[in-house]
Amino acid sequence: MLLGVFAHPDDESYGPGGALARAALEGAEVRLLFFTCGEAGTIGISKDLPREELCRRRRVEAARASETLGAAGHRILGLPDRRLSEVPEEEGIRAVIEEIRAHRPQVILTFHRLGVSGHPDHVAIARFTQEAFRRAGAEGPLKLYEWAIPRSKASLYRGRRLIPVADEEIAAILAIPPAAMERKLEAIRRHETQIEFYEELVRIFGDFREATREEFFVLSDTRLPRPAGIEDDLFAGIADRG
Ligand SMILES: [Zn+2]
Repeated sequence: MLLGVFAHPDDESYGPGGALARAALEGAEVRLLFFTCGEAGTIGISKDLPREELCRRRRVEAARASETLGAAGHRILGLPDRRLSEVPEEEGIRAVIEEIRAHRPQVILTFHRLGVSGHPDHVAIARFTQEAFRRAGAEGPLKLYEWAIPRSKASLYRGRRLIPVADEEIAAILAIPPAAMERKLEAIRRHETQIEFYEELVRIFGDFREATREEFFVLSDTRLPRPAGIEDDLFAGIADRG
């Protein structure tokens, strides 16, 4: 079972959506936890909508995207968007631990600890998740991955604010098979209020598939022996995908 921990609806699709879809297609139970409903979004129509209305729409979008990616379920905590760095540390950690206890994932996936885009909400959830993983102890998940953009790929994202990681930090490179790629792109399009972001990526990349045909991960923490080489499967070394 794979648990994805994110700050905002759309993080899961624009980020490691291929890995999530691939895991589901390969038989893993996938669940998503969102800390906010994204009510402080500023992309496209988002900035013109009242926060309650944007929250309502993005909850629907999160549900549709989760389903499209093949997730068995998702949960939105409804904590304040753009202010997760102000959430008491213990509250944030506890939220992730509760999700771990409820679903007993073998693998957890979140954003890189520097936030990928540097968004303080991404940084906060990565920190909460790292600590939750540590506290879950021997009975807890076996691996914690952080989705990241390696420095060698950063120049592709010209004009986007990005905090890439050193290529040597990357522990897993996942090839995204066509079926998972289609689910990822479909899930991105489910986030209708954020579609201008997708349009921008298409302007940058032409075909966004090309840019995202591989997804990159740092192995933040593990209870298994550290793998000798680069992994190509988040469930490598785990017999049962659950
Ligand atoms: Zn985000």
